[in-house]
Amino acid sequence: MGFFTDTSVCIGCKACEVACKEWNALPEDGLTFTGMSYDNTGGLGANSWRHVAFIEQRKPLGFQDPGLEYGDYGDVDLLGLTAEAAAAGQTANGEDRGEFRWLMASDVCKHCTHAACLDVCPTGSLFRTEYGTVVVQEDICNGCGYCVPACPYGVIDQRQDDGRVWKCTLCYDRVSDGMEPACAKACPTDSIQYGPLDELRERAARRVERLHEAGVEDARLYGHDPGDGVGGDGAFFLLLDEPEVYGLPPDPVVTTRDLPSMWRHAGAAALTLLGGIATVYATTRGRR
Ligand code: SF4
Ligand code: SF4
Repeated sequence: MGFFTDTSVCIGCKACEVACKEWNALPEDGLTFTGMSYDNTGGLGANSWRHVAFIEQRKPLGFQDPGLEYGDYGDVDLLGLTAEAAAAGQTANGEDRGEFRWLMASDVCKHCTHAACLDVCPTGSLFRTEYGTVVVQEDICNGCGYCVPACPYGVIDQRQDDGRVWKCTLCYDRVSDGMEPACAKACPTDSIQYGPLDELRERAARRVERLHEAGVEDARLYGHDPGDGVGGDGAFFLLLDEPEVYGLPPDPVVTTRDLPSMWRHAGAAALTLLGGIATVYATTRGRR
């Protein structure tokens, strides 16, 4: 099970951030704007398990889908912006919009197939659930912080007051009770979808195809490929630009990838050392 976040229909309402905070009783981050955009959270952290990025771009809107079918509302243009006008870079009343668009994207823990955070945790606080998601148990975390630099996405974070780490659990408690995660439930445009990953991947591929047909050539999936450096993500995204634009690593690799070969080399070095000691010992004894 996992998340598909379709950023092309996100309206930046932040209902997902609020629902996540409410359900998981997360402390507030303060309401200060970052000064860089309309973002007042800044990024994912110990107290923000969903983060809606607001990226301002000097690019025409293209055919971004507002998540509403125009035809359903007759002549009423709900968002004051028809697809035709958007393509022409104009508002519905003909005013020039200029070359400007917002990219909005709700980020979250990726619930990696090969999760480095889980690999390095010495206490078993991080574990893989029966749904394939990665959960951290705060009552077992000893605050060593090994998982923080191990995460290739910079997701998991320590709380300043007690040092323990926190991150999205993909609402393990809700899912175990047959409910969908709070963020997906609250999202009014279905930008966040929860379900079996195979189904979500199929839906996402169809959506990208549709966007390409509509002329949104930059639409792409991120984290959907089981053959990537983390074995695919349990939370993947439809993006409208390069991953770097959203602050995502373009080619993430599980940071514990080289651990097995490192252990092999360390084992070989230890055996060589033991062999040397044994030879010296045998030679010394032979001379006596
Ligand atoms: S994104 Fe980071 S915290 Fe989340 S599962 Fe992957 S390695 Fe762990
Ligand atoms: S609730 Fe949905 S539409 Fe609103 S900010 Fe979150 S992802 Fe975007």
